[in-house]
Amino acid sequence: MKVNNTKKAISLKKVSFEFFPPNDKKMEKMMWRSIEKLSPLDPSFVSVTYTHDEIVRQRTHQAVKKLTNSTSLCVAPHLTCVGATKEAINSIAKDYWNQGIRHIVALRGDQPINRKTNEQSTYSFASELVESLKKIADFDISVAAYPEIHPESKTRETDIDNLKRKIDAGASRAITQFFFGTDVFLYFRDRCAKKGIDVPIIPGILPITKFPQLKNFAKKCGATIPKWIEDRFIGLDSDAKTRELVAANIAIEQAKELEKEGVDEFHFYTLNRAELVYAICHSLNIREIK
Ligand SMILES: Cc1cc2nc3c(=O)[nH]c(=O)nc-3n(C[C@H](O)[C@H](O)[C@H](O)COP(=O)(O)OP(=O)(O)OC[C@H]3O[C@@H](n4cnc5c(N)ncnc54)[C@H](O)[C@@H]3O)c2cc1C
Repeated sequence: MKVNNTKKAISLKKVSFEFFPPNDKKMEKMMWRSIEKLSPLDPSFVSVTYTHDEIVRQRTHQAVKKLTNSTSLCVAPHLTCVGATKEAINSIAKDYWNQGIRHIVALRGDQPINRKTNEQSTYSFASELVESLKKIADFDISVAAYPEIHPESKTRETDIDNLKRKIDAGASRAITQFFFGTDVFLYFRDRCAKKGIDVPIIPGILPITKFPQLKNFAKKCGATIPKWIEDRFIGLDSDAKTRELVAANIAIEQAKELEKEGVDEFHFYTLNRAELVYAICHSLNIREIK
C-alpha cells in the first residue's frame, strides 16, 4: 500500500477528508485508492464514519486500526453514542487512546428504530459525550454543526445553544452538515460568532456523485438543494460523465466562493471517491509537491 503524506502540500489552507468503512473487497480497494490519491494533500485529519449498527461499528474499528497502523495520517474516528451504554462508549474511547488516537468526531447519531435503551445508562446528547471523552483523556474533539439547523431543533437559537454546549464541554472545532448556499454558511458563521463560539467552523463539502442519492441525504438531514442545482442535472440520468463534470463545477464554484469569504479550512465528504475531491482541492491551490 503506497500512502505518502510525508511531503507537505503547498497551501496555507487546511483540508480534511471523511471516509466510510467499506463493506466488501471492492469497496475496500476503492477506499484505499482514494486514500492514496488524497494523502499527499497533507490533510489535517481523515475521519471514518460510525453507526449504531454493530456490524458497521466493527468495520469502522478495523478501518481505523488499519489507517493508524499503515499510514502517518491523523485518524479521527467518528463515535456516536445512541444505542450503546456509557460503559461501552467509554471503553471504545479508552481503546482508541491506547492505540494512539488523539482526535475523535463526537456525535449523538440517530436513534435506531425499534431499539430502546435505558436512558439512564446512555449519553443522550453529543455534549454529554464530549464532556465524558474529555474526562477520559485529552482528546482533540470535533462536533457536528448545522447551518440549516438540525431537524429536531425547534429554533435556530436552540440549535446554536446546543453547538455552544458542545464547544463549552471541550470540542475544539465544528464540522458542518453539507449545504449548498454560501450565504447559508456565512449567516450561520456570523450567528456562531455572536454566540461567542470562537472555534473554527469548518464547512462540510459534499461533491455530488449521484443526484437521487443526494436528494435522499438532503431529505434526511434537512439540507436544502437549490433549484439551480436540480436544474443542472435534468436529463443526465444516464450520462455519468457529464454528471461528473457538472458536479465538479458546482463544488468548485462553492469552494471558491467560500474561499473568497475567508474560509481556509474545508472538510470533504468523499464517499470514498477521490477524483472530484482531488480536483476541487487542486482548484483551491491545495496541491502536492512533486
Ligand atoms: C460532520 C458530521 C459527521 C457525522 N457523522 C456521522 C456518523 O459517522 N454516523 C452517524 O450515525 N451520524 C453522523 N452524523 C449525523 C448525526 O449523527 C445526526 O445529525 C444526529 O441526528 C445528531 O447528532 P449530533 O452529534 O449533532 O447531536 P446533538 O448535538 O446531541 O444534537 C441532536 C439534537 O438534540 C438537540 N439537543 C441537544 N442537547 C439537548 C438537550 N440537552 N435538550 C434538548 N435537546 C437537545 C439538538 O438541538 C439537536 O436537535 C454526522 C453529522 C455531521 C454534521
